[in-house]
Amino acid sequence: MTTADFILWSCLLFAIIFVRYLLFSGAYHYLFRRHWKDRLQQRIFHDRPAGQTIMRKEIIRAAGVSVVFAVAGIATLWLWQRGHTRLYLDPGEHHWIWLPLSPLLFLALQETYYYWTHRWMHLPGIYERVHAWHHESIETTAFTAFSFHPLEAIIQAIYIPLIILVLPIQTFIFLFLLALMTLSATINHAGVEVFPASWSKIPLLRRLIGATHHDLHHKQARTNFGLYFTYWDEWMGTESKKYKDRFERVTEKR
Ligand SMILES: [Zn+2]
Ligand SMILES: [Zn+2]
Repeated sequence: MTTADFILWSCLLFAIIFVRYLLFSGAYHYLFRRHWKDRLQQRIFHDRPAGQTIMRKEIIRAAGVSVVFAVAGIATLWLWQRGHTRLYLDPGEHHWIWLPLSPLLFLALQETYYYWTHRWMHLPGIYERVHAWHHESIETTAFTAFSFHPLEAIIQAIYIPLIILVLPIQTFIFLFLLALMTLSATINHAGVEVFPASWSKIPLLRRLIGATHHDLHHKQARTNFGLYFTYWDEWMGTESKKYKDRFERVTEKR
């Protein structure tokens, strides 16, 4: 890949990532915070939405994050093109059990990586330099999903090109996981609980992190460090004591 190719592909990928963020977060924000407001009233955490100034700031920061994600995407494509990754197209290339197992392993490793780097980013001295931007959003919105400092974006994005060097994963499952990351980040920041009350009674589903869980992280900043699942928070005693009550309260039928 020449330098001109690198710049061209980075610009193209940046446009795709950033426009997709704007459309998806915008649609989610409109649907849940405005259109469904009456139906989901008790599930919306803040009656007064985040100010326009913070939302504008979040979108500007998301543009910077999209640049980092685009470069990580190009690095991933470059590695794939050169045959360095373990991505594979033919589902029969590995035992069939690997098809459901590989995404679970991908998510479990990412969860562990994220939980511990997130704890590290909350240490004094690191927090101010890397993570404080994300926590400026106390009343989060769907636009907070990509609102990070570029250094934090690098820490998050680097997992992708690194994991596909070692973990065999079917290409379409990999693309699905990339979409899942955006969906999860949007759900967790939108400020409205979309998971039903019944999920708190179902094994595995009750360990899924949703808006109530991550909203408490933005409000308290000392609890709820997980990304997709609550396991590490439970094991390390960092889950907010308010979480289970609050989830029941916001999901109970009026
Ligand atoms: Zn957050
Ligand atoms: Zn944090």
